[in-house]
Amino acid sequence: MTRAFNFSAGPAAIPTEVLERAQKELLNWNNYGCSVMELGHRTPDFQGILDNTEASLRKLLKIPANYKVLFMHGSASHQFSMVPMNFLAPNETANYLEMDHWSKMCIKEAKRFNDIHVEQGVRTNSDGLLELVPEDEWKLDEKGKYLHFTSNETIVGIQFQDDPNRFAGKLVSDMCSDILSRPIDIEKYALIYAGAQKNIGPSGMTVVIVREDLFDSFQTERVPALFQYPYVSDKGSMPNTPPSFGIYFAGLVFEWLLERGGVEEMHRQNLEKANLLYDFVDQSDFYHSPVAKGSRSFMNVAIQMKDRTKEERFLAEAREQHLIALKGHKTFGGLRASIYNAMTLDGVKKLIHFMERFERG
Ligand SMILES: *Cc1c(COP(=O)(O)O)cnc(C)c1O
Repeated sequence: MTRAFNFSAGPAAIPTEVLERAQKELLNWNNYGCSVMELGHRTPDFQGILDNTEASLRKLLKIPANYKVLFMHGSASHQFSMVPMNFLAPNETANYLEMDHWSKMCIKEAKRFNDIHVEQGVRTNSDGLLELVPEDEWKLDEKGKYLHFTSNETIVGIQFQDDPNRFAGKLVSDMCSDILSRPIDIEKYALIYAGAQKNIGPSGMTVVIVREDLFDSFQTERVPALFQYPYVSDKGSMPNTPPSFGIYFAGLVFEWLLERGGVEEMHRQNLEKANLLYDFVDQSDFYHSPVAKGSRSFMNVAIQMKDRTKEERFLAEAREQHLIALKGHKTFGGLRASIYNAMTLDGVKKLIHFMERFERG
């Protein structure tokens, strides 16, 4: 059996070494006589797993002690509602950068709760390419309690290359598709969230990093307990049965990252993989990138073919070469290669060779 090179945007590729380890431990975890899925979450053993997972994440992202790490049920989309529910009293406001699909979904949810200020974060430049609006051009409401932005727009492949400076200390970010892909300056953030299924592990769990001193200002009126960050934090991410397999699995991925030099080394490798692919696309007359240099994602590389009628054949032939899930999102079309931490340089080289051969016909 061949494991393909999986370019899926999410749920995405998981390092083979991690899957092998989980497989090895599946029936009998740590000689306990059962699998992690069958282990009571109130046992000292499971508490050990949770503590190790958190410690590894703290080490990887250099999370200061005054920030809490929460492993929560559900998806990133739940956080679209939880952020305004916790941060904003009925008469308060916040800034939202509108970029593409995910930030639009997030803005739609926030508007259910509050009157928020929306600012454009993306525009089309004179060459018809998408680019980030430079932060000194953002018109923000200074009364806003936070500035929410999507650090990497997964569908169109547009990414902040660094943490913004505006609203430093009051940034809230959806980092679903680029958490752990580069070092981040945590202290610029009030809260960061990321669903697990792109760069962390299986779907169904979301990681939240939140500054603890904000807890006193959070809303509790009419907010369900399980949706209150302070409550979940107070209960050590276990107000009820946690997503225990997801927490265990994330711990394995974090260990894998630490063994390989952490996020600094991942960042270097991610840039190497992305540059190789973008350089190839740029020199070709057959493919092109819809995103301007300087705004391009090194996690999700959107690629368009000049002749769009060849897309279906491209995808079918790629699949025969064990290069899977290269179809762009239905709302944007074209091709997309998601090259998260688990995608190897080898996989990217194989994709480029295939693209070269396909171009020659
Ligand atoms: C995938 C993704 C989401 C949605 O994640 P769910 O867990 O399915 O809700 C939100 N934001 C970004 C940037 C994403 O890439």
